[in-house]
Amino acid sequence: MLKNSKKIRIISIVVAIVLAIVVAVVSNINDSNSSLTYGEVITFLQEGEVKKIESIQDSHTFYIYLTEDNNEKKSSDDKYSVVVPNIDEFTTFVADEIKGGNKVEFKVVESNDVVTAIISLIGSLIPIIFLFYYMNKMMNGNGSKFKPIMSNVKFSHVAGIDEEKKQVEEIVEFLKNPEKYRRIGAKIPKGVLLSGEPGTGKTLLAKAIAGEAGVPFFQVNGSSFEEKFVGVGASRVRKLFNEAKRVAPSIIFIDELDSVAQHRYGAKANYSEQTLNQLLSEMDGFETSDNVIVIAATNHVEVLDSAIRRPGRFDRTVFIPSPDVIAREEILKVHCLDKNFDTSVSLKEIAKKTVGFSGADLENILNEAAIYAVNNGRNAISQEDINEAIARTIAGLRKKNSAITEKDRKLTAVHEAGHAVVSAKVRPNVKNFEISIIPRGNAGGYNFFDESDSMYSQKKTLQDKIKVLYGGRIAEEIILKDISTGAANDCEKASEIAHNMIVKFAMSKNLLTKIRGEEDYNKRLEENFISEAEGICRDCYDKTKLIVTAHQAIILKLADLLLEKEYLTQEEIEEFFKVNGIF
Ligand code: ADP
Ligand code: ZN
Repeated sequence: MLKNSKKIRIISIVVAIVLAIVVAVVSNINDSNSSLTYGEVITFLQEGEVKKIESIQDSHTFYIYLTEDNNEKKSSDDKYSVVVPNIDEFTTFVADEIKGGNKVEFKVVESNDVVTAIISLIGSLIPIIFLFYYMNKMMNGNGSKFKPIMSNVKFSHVAGIDEEKKQVEEIVEFLKNPEKYRRIGAKIPKGVLLSGEPGTGKTLLAKAIAGEAGVPFFQVNGSSFEEKFVGVGASRVRKLFNEAKRVAPSIIFIDELDSVAQHRYGAKANYSEQTLNQLLSEMDGFETSDNVIVIAATNHVEVLDSAIRRPGRFDRTVFIPSPDVIAREEILKVHCLDKNFDTSVSLKEIAKKTVGFSGADLENILNEAAIYAVNNGRNAISQEDINEAIARTIAGLRKKNSAITEKDRKLTAVHEAGHAVVSAKVRPNVKNFEISIIPRGNAGGYNFFDESDSMYSQKKTLQDKIKVLYGGRIAEEIILKDISTGAANDCEKASEIAHNMIVKFAMSKNLLTKIRGEEDYNKRLEENFISEAEGICRDCYDKTKLIVTAHQAIILKLADLLLEKEYLTQEEIEEFFKVNGIF
């Protein structure tokens, strides 16, 4: 779309320049008969040597015909042009001359050169027409209305995120039968935010909701609202919502919401503010009876303007996780249905090898493997084709992140090894599913743990979790004598667990709880809770430090193995721990 507008702009500029040149050349040709200065014309007039004056509408150019005797060299038909500084002054002067007996003939002509007039008219109109055409295109979103599609994606096409599917099922029911919900006054969210790394299936899930409900699906990209002219984004938003309401029940899907809905600061924010405000006011304005659900995708929930997540707007967030080993196998199952494999292929094995791959990556490696098979004259995909595709994807990921230095890789490896070794020490029963140092999104690496603990976490279990979270940071600190920002997320999670232990799970030493309506009291209590949570964190931190210090050599060894292999499966991790005497 941007490309198109650019093309139109370039074409209109070129046309304008060409026409300007044509006009200039033509009028030059016309003026090539000699011209007189204003002073000469005045003198000739006063001396009665001008036979005729032609004036063309409001033009400053007048044409002068001189009398025979003055016009020695040329015939009397020759005309001279003169540019008059002030038209009124000149015409008054001529009128006075005529009144005073001068025999000059004064004639106003429509144009004494029709061709010039027409060309100059077209010349000046065409760029304007182009400009209007171009602006119109921008205003209307490339001239086309927003056209919905009827999606044929079903929930069965979306694999490995069953929990997340459940969270959006009621939206399908609502879109199918809005009356049923409205009758009993059930509240259905107007806006749902799908958050997750690129390629995890956010668009796919939104399409599946539309497909299951059988309603029109409008897809727009947040960045497509942003155009050169401020205000255009806002008008596009209005059009989109009007169109969606017209064909309701329907779904509006906004991909890359972050490009319009970032915190309102920074240079870009000014541009998008109007668009964002329009989006919010459309959402505030529509009633449940409009039967439009807005689904938006983002991979940066944290940068979204807080206004966007207020009740009545995008008040529900569904986090789509990057697929773990089990989810990856499910996704592979969905995408292998239309392909031929030979017996060497094991989807389980592929799933294990593809730590950090998104659903889109997985789909991609199967497609690439199919192409290798065809190129090699086979009609079934072999494990070797798949390995080749995986290797290329990993290389591609690494290239995409080529800014990552050896130092960063080492840091990630030590960090992840720290998590893994601390986990193996404090909770040997929790399986370490896989570790990866292939960077994805904003995470440098991954540790997938089997977290399917019992619902009621015991105090010790929670403390162990905190220790494992600290394991990464402390390994950096002790082994590399350096800490990075990579552990920020871990520390945040640890604080959250500690705080929940005190406030939600009543594991505080303090028996007091919050009292409804007692603001001052609760404030003091909260301060106590915070210092108590801090105590838990401090205690876990110190204990983890002892573990890491005692196991520095093994952490380094695991880090080296990670640097070499980039990912380790559950078997490989267990093998490593057994050989090195951790288990
Ligand atoms: P996102 O919107 O999160 O960036 P997409 O929905 O565009 O990701 O995913 C791109 C493609 O990857 C999908 O069309 C689908 O083929 C595949 N894919 C991604 N996630 C899944 C999944 N969970 N199950 C099946 N296919 C998936
Ligand atoms: Zn970490």
